[in-house]
Amino acid sequence: MRTSCCFYYSRRRSSFFSHLDYPTSKDAYEFFLRMNSRPGSVLTTFMDANVNLPHPQSSLDKYNVDWTKHYRGNSSIVVRPESTQEVVQIMEYCQERRLGIVPQGGNTGLVGGSVPMSSQEIVVSLEQMNQIYNKQDDEHSRKNRNILRADAGSVLQDLQAFAAQNMDCLVPVDLGAKGSCQIGGNLSSNAGGVYYYRYGSLHANCLGLEVVVPNGEGKAEILNLSFDPASHLKDNTGYDLKHLFIGAEGTLGIITKVALWCPPLPKSVGAVWLTCHTLRDVIEILNLARTKFLTEILAAFEFMDHDVLRLVKSTHNASFLRLPVDIDDATSGDEQQNYSVLIETHGSNEVHDQEKLAIFVDFIMQKHLIVDGVMAQNLGQVQAFWNVRDLCNPSAAATGYVYKYDVSLAATDFNDFICEMKSRLRSYENAHCTSSAAKKDLRCVNWGHIIGKCKMTQFSLRRRIDLLHILSDSQFVMNVVFRRQPPLQYCLFRKIR
Ligand SMILES: Cc1cc2nc3c(=O)[nH]c(=O)nc-3n(C[C@H](O)[C@H](O)[C@H](O)COP(=O)(O)OP(=O)(O)OC[C@H]3O[C@@H](n4cnc5c(N)ncnc54)[C@H](O)[C@@H]3O)c2cc1C
Repeated sequence: MRTSCCFYYSRRRSSFFSHLDYPTSKDAYEFFLRMNSRPGSVLTTFMDANVNLPHPQSSLDKYNVDWTKHYRGNSSIVVRPESTQEVVQIMEYCQERRLGIVPQGGNTGLVGGSVPMSSQEIVVSLEQMNQIYNKQDDEHSRKNRNILRADAGSVLQDLQAFAAQNMDCLVPVDLGAKGSCQIGGNLSSNAGGVYYYRYGSLHANCLGLEVVVPNGEGKAEILNLSFDPASHLKDNTGYDLKHLFIGAEGTLGIITKVALWCPPLPKSVGAVWLTCHTLRDVIEILNLARTKFLTEILAAFEFMDHDVLRLVKSTHNASFLRLPVDIDDATSGDEQQNYSVLIETHGSNEVHDQEKLAIFVDFIMQKHLIVDGVMAQNLGQVQAFWNVRDLCNPSAAATGYVYKYDVSLAATDFNDFICEMKSRLRSYENAHCTSSAAKKDLRCVNWGHIIGKCKMTQFSLRRRIDLLHILSDSQFVMNVVFRRQPPLQYCLFRKIR
């Protein structure tokens, strides 16, 4: 569990790991030797005339500070293996020396799991393990056209581009951090992403893994869990151990290779951007889309409240960015909030899919569920809708201090939950903030995917100190969550060390 302190969240190591040693400059050198003295394989801030390592680093912040900039470690050594054998070497040496390891992908995990806790751990960054194994002339690849096989350090966006260009396929996970996050990190955090609705979880799409694990006797072993050859989509032969590593956040071992099932690229992609008055309308629209109008072609369903879109507008130049539908500039009250919805469809027949979308939009308009809407006319416009959605995260981060919750609740509880959170913030403000400027500084904004049950992302921002006070006040958010049906997911506890 994390507690808060001045700027970075502090974290506590479980007493189970209290016996770890501190790495030294000699360890950095030993790692370097085990990486065949490859330049760039070990980065360290240790300065020691007796230990001659190339490229001494003045700072390892890139590896010690996470994407949110709220979690900071203090590791002096980053090892960057190029192969599974090198990962084995690292793990065996760490066991021998009793050094802690933090596997790191793109460092975008949002909950501090990818950065070390202290100077006791070394970072194993997978960034140099980024080979893709599908080859045109390779028999395995020819036979298994929908299976993508790659190193765990491959960046998601690179895999998406490869799958589209070479396999005519789509990687079944997509998320805002795709330019930085790695497939090994996606699996280790069991990332959902925007197409979860259509293509399912990584548990469903991961066909095989290669993993390096400590064997308990000072050695490390390579486990081939249906990576080579990758299993078929259906494999009912006994235990399926790879699932233990999906969502394990690196606690059981280091994922080094991945085999993923990739569906064919959709032949037709459509999108609409809708605005409506209430979250109840949003959920009604989802139900209609899911059960009646768009069923088999519904791929993504995202909502954004208009407070977050105002943040997007205010942090980005109007000439660079135009919202698909204009929104007014006045911040809404607690009860009255407008929402935008982005729906994407994937199908196989453009005329048929467009017609379905048009009938759907017509229906919800007649039911007064929406007040405005725009239908994308081409792929460029679909992308323009997503550009706005993808700016929600960075715009909130750019505006001030962000505290993020990622909670899944029953859809029916969702509106109620947001109202209660807002009203609690207001009560806190009234009691503690005297000036009206200070009051405006504290905001609660909501957006995210909605998947059957609701997934919401919530930020409150700007005035860090006040916010930390509130949130540490008897588990402010958790109390509100747990009084409702048990949540499906809550990121705050995603990694416990
Ligand atoms: C803008 C943005 C949008 C996002 N959108 C979504 C979303 O839609 N849905 C969602 O679920 N999440 C989302 N996330 C969070 C998501 O979990 C991460 O972006 C991504 O999955 C993490 O990948 P990474 O490579 O950055 O992993 P890291 O952050 O580097 O690591 C995550 C965890 O996995 C471990 N790990 C990393 N690589 C390995 C490995 N090879 N072997 C073993 N353990 C490893 C680390 O120790 C850590 O515990 C978003 C994040 C951002 C910044």
